[in-house]
Amino acid sequence: MLDPIIKVENLTKNYGDFEAVKGLSFEVYPGEIFGLLGPHGAGKSTTLEIIETLREKTSGQVTVNGIDIEKDPAAVKKIIGVQLQTAGFYPGLNLIELLDLFAGLYNEEIDPMAILDSVNLRDKAKAKFKELSGGQKQRFSIATSLVNQPKVIFLDEPTTGLDPQARRSLWELIRSIQQRGTTIVLTTNYMDEAEYLCDRIAIMEKGK
Ligand code: ADP
Repeated sequence: MLDPIIKVENLTKNYGDFEAVKGLSFEVYPGEIFGLLGPHGAGKSTTLEIIETLREKTSGQVTVNGIDIEKDPAAVKKIIGVQLQTAGFYPGLNLIELLDLFAGLYNEEIDPMAILDSVNLRDKAKAKFKELSGGQKQRFSIATSLVNQPKVIFLDEPTTGLDPQARRSLWELIRSIQQRGTTIVLTTNYMDEAEYLCDRIAIMEKGK
């Protein structure tokens, strides 16, 4: 049995006196697609953002690849990829320029065309971000999460708002990333998405 790549134990998060996450425990194993499934407001994004070291927990313990997120958040950031909301990209830069920007932030040498190939966007290399369709924007945002060759990527509702064809194409992309050996943690409120994509899921409701 492999050691878990993510270990969450008794995680809690309070916003003021509101308990958004109430003592959550789960493990994610290397190479799997793990889903947090649940309705809006369940605490999925909060949980994800804590593991990503973007939000502080109230209590509990979280390790990623054996690293305690509280003790060494910088080391965690180096080995994870986070899909940002697509609103975060400079609309007037083209895809190669945006990937170069991300690579620069990570201090990584990359081959932008190879990354665009991997998300099926080679023919859009010179297009500006704002010129992409909704599905292409989502695919590109996943591409940016791959620039540092992460061990784990986190996708927060990756297909929300997409038409059925674009959703399908994103599902295939997520599977192909898994096949290259990357562990994937995603949130979704679609049962069919969880069923199609995930090896294991945790069902979340009201912080539990
Ligand atoms: P989900 O991703 O499952 O939709 P969230 O983690 O976004 O759930 O939110 C869980 C609960 O915490 C919701 O009730 C939400 O309103 C609340 N919440 C999220 N972020 C904040 C915040 N920054 N301040 C106060 N309450 C928040």
